[in-house]
Amino acid sequence: LPAPVLAPRRVSRKITLRHHSHPVEVGGDAPISVQSMTTTRTDDVNATLQQIAELTAAGCQVVRVAVPSQDDADALPQIARKSGIPVIADIHFQPKYVFAAIDAGCAGVRVNPGNIKQFDDKVGEIARAAKDAGIPIRIGVNAGSLDKRLLEKYGKATPEALVESALWECSLFEEHDFRDIKISVKHNDPVVMVTAYRLLAAQCDYPLHLGVTEAGPAFQGTIKSSVAFGALLSQGIGDTIRVSLSAPPVEEVKVGNQILESLNLRKRGLEIVSCPSCGRAQVDVYTLAEQVTAGLEGLTVPLRVAVMGCVVNGPGEAREADLGVASGNGKGQIFKRGEVVMTVPESQIVETLVEMALEMAEEMGVD
Ligand code: SF4
Repeated sequence: LPAPVLAPRRVSRKITLRHHSHPVEVGGDAPISVQSMTTTRTDDVNATLQQIAELTAAGCQVVRVAVPSQDDADALPQIARKSGIPVIADIHFQPKYVFAAIDAGCAGVRVNPGNIKQFDDKVGEIARAAKDAGIPIRIGVNAGSLDKRLLEKYGKATPEALVESALWECSLFEEHDFRDIKISVKHNDPVVMVTAYRLLAAQCDYPLHLGVTEAGPAFQGTIKSSVAFGALLSQGIGDTIRVSLSAPPVEEVKVGNQILESLNLRKRGLEIVSCPSCGRAQVDVYTLAEQVTAGLEGLTVPLRVAVMGCVVNGPGEAREADLGVASGNGKGQIFKRGEVVMTVPESQIVETLVEMALEMAEEMGVD
């Protein structure tokens, strides 16, 4: 049986981000994808490709690169060709880079309606070029760069202003019969952001790219994004996500994947269930959980491993997991699929769990 989810997915049209070996569909019934953005200079092709490879290995499915200059635009063909995942060009200010990105074989282009000067009279040309190449456009509205007219009308970047900006830009493309669009309406305040996406979801059937912009350093940004994405995804809203952190982009991907796994929107991989410890603990649960987590790093099997500090809740949780330990009295009772299979001295708990997890992974035919 498929794992239960909190709500049916919002109905949206589907777009495809092209790639020679790993195209990614967004919207419709396509799995929700995780994106990130490179932090290297895009014109440093080797560094950018290296970072894309690291992101891909961490589970990133779509990557965005900034294109602020002609040198960056010139680097796009090589990056798009050699990247293992679809590459989206992020364009501000300059329509000519939009055409360069389309010609370069990028999977998509992100434009910011508030930022591209003289963009409006270029929309027809851009729509035609994108349609001929079969690539979608993301209308990416950002609170920080909202269209001046809307700022004047609403006084600040309200949810209504963000949505009006996005839908107005969509209408310009629609006039040219171009609907291969996905939309984002980002704000740094999760409450404004969630409200904007809810409004937007009710007013169009375009797939939605979720993001809390400028979410902050890793701790704050992780929480802001998790709360905001959770509120939306739990209502079926959101087709692709990008966690923004002031931290290495691999961290964004880890957080994004974990959010989807937590909501059963992605098959769960390795899951460590560990107790918070309390006055009853008879072992150092933090160290034990950390050592088990480190020992199993990189394991991608859907395995639930319980690390429990005492014999009160320990046996119950350990029994529910695929593999677990309930510690106490200098020993660890090891559980495998609900049965106690052995008792080992405390010093051997970590190596026993890691060894058994690897064996189980092998039995499951994955690594
Ligand atoms: Fe406390 Fe035991 Fe529960 Fe851990 S499992 S939180 S040590 S009661």
